[in-house]
Amino acid sequence: MKCQKCDVEFKKRDIQGVNVEYCPDCLGVFLHHGELRKITHKTTGDIEYASIENFDPENLFGMNCPLCRDEKMVKINFVSYSDISLGYCSKCKGIWLDKGELELINKEIDKLNMDPENWEHSICVFLAKLPF
Ligand SMILES: [Zn+2]
Ligand SMILES: [Zn+2]
Repeated sequence: MKCQKCDVEFKKRDIQGVNVEYCPDCLGVFLHHGELRKITHKTTGDIEYASIENFDPENLFGMNCPLCRDEKMVKINFVSYSDISLGYCSKCKGIWLDKGELELINKEIDKLNMDPENWEHSICVFLAKLPF
């Protein structure tokens, strides 16, 4: 797989036990479906789902998916309301993080975990406590 921005072959790196592909040039990271929650700080909700549920197919990210090649990625915001914008491929459900965004996401999760008044967080906790 190649970075669609730099045309450079991805390298692999271990983040929290997950073998992720990243671009050695721009330091962007490509995540397959389900990998985002594995490499970020733990939280009760499904952060991946919370980020992609409201995606707008017209809002293009400006980069093709490194995996699907001819599929354009759309712009999504991490957990919908944050100002961290990520690339999302609706075909393979892959997610693109620019350099440094993993750290921003972890900070946002810490904030979410520390703020029990946060509506989205309350919903997540509520759902997690349901007995099924
Ligand atoms: Zn790159
Ligand atoms: Zn894709």
